[in-house]
Amino acid sequence: MPHLSDRVSSILQGGKTGWEVHFHALARRQAGEDILMVTAGDHDFDTPAEIVAACDRALHAGYHHYTQLEGIPALRRAMARVSEELTGVATRPDNILATGGGQGALYAAVQAVCDPGSHAVVCAPYYATYPGTFRAAGADFSLVHARPEDGFQPGAEAIEAAVTERTTAILINTPNNPAGAIYSRETLNGIADVCRRHDLWLLSDEVYWSHTGDQAHLSPRSLPDMAERTLVINSMSKSHGMTGWRVGWLTGPESVIGPLVGLNLVSTYGLNDFVSHAAVEALDQAYGVAEITAVYARRRAAFRAAMDDCPGLLIRGSEGGIYLMADIRAVSADGEAFAWGLLESENLALMPGETFGPSTAGHVRVSLCQPDDVLEEAARRIRRHVDSLL
Ligand code: PLP
Repeated sequence: MPHLSDRVSSILQGGKTGWEVHFHALARRQAGEDILMVTAGDHDFDTPAEIVAACDRALHAGYHHYTQLEGIPALRRAMARVSEELTGVATRPDNILATGGGQGALYAAVQAVCDPGSHAVVCAPYYATYPGTFRAAGADFSLVHARPEDGFQPGAEAIEAAVTERTTAILINTPNNPAGAIYSRETLNGIADVCRRHDLWLLSDEVYWSHTGDQAHLSPRSLPDMAERTLVINSMSKSHGMTGWRVGWLTGPESVIGPLVGLNLVSTYGLNDFVSHAAVEALDQAYGVAEITAVYARRRAAFRAAMDDCPGLLIRGSEGGIYLMADIRAVSADGEAFAWGLLESENLALMPGETFGPSTAGHVRVSLCQPDDVLEEAARRIRRHVDSLL
């Protein structure tokens, strides 16, 4: 057979995906078993009706064509306005690249700052696509583990110690998937200092920008002199309930966004026309954002309360995002073994912490993307299983 490129064959490296419990549970559920799943990060509700109606109008208005590679002007304007509101930094459409979801923005950012042989520092726990995204660029990375005991806030010293001659970027995610941690100003200042001292890019994945609990969203782009070296990964998936629509954007200096238009040219050739028009309305009118944010805030508080006095289980971080991370080391050092045991004894599937890196070994992640009654029942089953192991 002709050669398959090293970059592509490396992306899904290692047979294990970390999603084994999820897919096993899914198969059993599809075969008719009564299994609850709090694994995946996709909403249990549909996209707000106003956005669907806007898309319907755009479809019937003839928006069926190729679009500007960097995003239609109205969409870039709307995204720039949101980025400016979130960061307090003057943001023009030229600072915006519209992408296929936050993952598209992440891919573009990594392609922009990594050559084959480059190195990045990735703060863990991390979102599961990060390793493959660096491998797709021919780059490698070191993980810096934020400790549960520190509320999953990564330390600047450990990050700096991981920087090498080949390092071009640091990648962070706040609010964090899986831990729900929101990086503090102190944490971000420390990371920004490392970037300035070593002349590095900061890739800041902020796709959970609307899920910040009772705090205002804090982006490192807003810190002194950071706008010129920060690329912010953003998305409408989690804020507007639009996971399947695939709309995201990258915010950064024009000197990076300009050349990245070439990446859209050779990959996606721009976003979908009618989806772009619906996304403009969704951003301009903030359709669904307050309601969706409130749903997750309520679920987060309810689940925390349900688990509050559970001996053997401790929830840390989890101030934002749409997940909770529970420390179950008092009953098991192995989150994966715990997850399999829970599935067998209680018919409940959750994600082993190990899926998100070694810093969350002995933890499990609960996704809040389920109706209230399912989450209440999930809490009861977890509690029963923990009790049985004490
Ligand atoms: N970044 C993080 C931290 C995520 O959790 C996700 C999705 O779950 C993404 C990026 C990708 O999101 P999108 O649906 O916008 O591609």
